[in-house]
Amino acid sequence: MKKYRIGIAFFYHESHSFAPLKTDIQAFYNEGYFKGNEIFTAYSDTKTEVGGFLDVLNKVDEVEIVPLLCAAAIPSGTVTKEAYLQIESEMLTEIAKAEKLDGLLIALHGAMVVEDIFDPEEKLLREVRRLVGNKIPIATTLDMHANLSAEMIKHTPYHFGFKTYPHVDMYDQGGNAAKILLEHLLDGKRYEAAFIKLPMMPPSINMRTEEGPMQVMIEMATNVEGKNGIKNVSIFGGFPYSDIPMVGASVLVIANDKKSANDTAKKLSQRYWEIRQNFIMNLPTVHEGMQMAVSLKETKPIVLADISDNPLSCGSGDTTTLLKEFIRINYPKSLFGGLTDPDSIETCRKAGVSALVELNLGGKTSPEFGESVSVEAKIISLSDGIFFNSGPFNQNLRVDVKGAAHIKVGELDILLIGRPMSANDPEMFRHIGIEPSSYTILGMKVKNHFRAAFDPLISKVIYVDAPGVASNDLRNFPYKYIPDEIWPLRDISYDVDKEALNDDCH
Ligand SMILES: [Zn+2]
Repeated sequence: MKKYRIGIAFFYHESHSFAPLKTDIQAFYNEGYFKGNEIFTAYSDTKTEVGGFLDVLNKVDEVEIVPLLCAAAIPSGTVTKEAYLQIESEMLTEIAKAEKLDGLLIALHGAMVVEDIFDPEEKLLREVRRLVGNKIPIATTLDMHANLSAEMIKHTPYHFGFKTYPHVDMYDQGGNAAKILLEHLLDGKRYEAAFIKLPMMPPSINMRTEEGPMQVMIEMATNVEGKNGIKNVSIFGGFPYSDIPMVGASVLVIANDKKSANDTAKKLSQRYWEIRQNFIMNLPTVHEGMQMAVSLKETKPIVLADISDNPLSCGSGDTTTLLKEFIRINYPKSLFGGLTDPDSIETCRKAGVSALVELNLGGKTSPEFGESVSVEAKIISLSDGIFFNSGPFNQNLRVDVKGAAHIKVGELDILLIGRPMSANDPEMFRHIGIEPSSYTILGMKVKNHFRAAFDPLISKVIYVDAPGVASNDLRNFPYKYIPDEIWPLRDISYDVDKEALNDDCH
């Protein structure tokens, strides 16, 4: 047996409290559910957090990697208690079976919500600590959209949030988490953490790190890292569609000593609060957005982005308001996709390529956001819906959208897919023979992640305000459990100097 045995695990879900469908265990089986050595097959050489864990640990002779359990589902409604408890129990069983572990690396999201459990990642870490004790180090990775709670820091100070949106540094943060664990075990290093939760839940539309307020925050964070004993800074934007008491933004600083961590966390939180208004964007309607698109003469495609139905923000991927506008305008070389519609794919499959079929497109999961649209379509091609991301977001990861069909309605090309999936990678189109860069206007159910791969292919993104579960206007949601005093729903005053810092960190 090697000197250090490090367990690796992954439990990932971003939960929308107002999405119509609950997330059951089947959703995790569909997306990614791996035990033991299957984890090596699924994540080796991928630019994911687990890929980062593996690459750092594999370089160290004294370390034996113990693969435990990985479970991930696409963002969607609240996770059922049954599914959560099954995964938690299987993870604890794998940890118990592993016997001696010297450290643990767990890739988490941080914005999972379970029926009757507001802070499931905290519960998971609590149960893991109960099993392995308080001595061994645990490091996690967390999404930038984590609704991190102070309780999470009590279980370990070692949390690494993504610093990019689109999240193209998952792999790097996985590597950072693995490195701090190695420093702790091999070099005897110890770090403290300071955590500040801000009374705000900014919408994520303007949270990209290429420009705008989050770029300001990440630049401040990276500027202080490596100075005055500061090891790492995470800026969390939070996920405002989780109706939970610990919703919203936060700052976490890991440092050699408590004072440096506290001072830095306060300084960053103050700035974060000051620039909060820059996160707010008012969007054009679908019709206004289309008018803008057709009036612009660009050489590369213009994207109309239906953020309210973005599957990565828990949209069902089958709302029809923007689709109807594309069909109505019938613009030459226009493309819409991927529209989730397994029933229509089945009809296409039975009819075969080149056939003409009558279809009722979309509007099946969330008809309240737009009814199905009846069309006559020509079937251009069909596929099993399996492809590998070209990246950089989740590069090389195998994706299975459960079947796909390329159909044509008038001038409009439409990509149908078998389950909700944001068009974050051009391979979603290319695998079935569609070249997205050859079109004039693209209608996509996306928000920001797709820009990692699509920005070089397109000229402009117009975000439109269509009805949907991930609407940009947070006043549309019937919150019950979030704090009363939270911006932007309330215009409140806040003084970071008067706020107590979490003092229970290791
Ligand atoms: Zn995120």
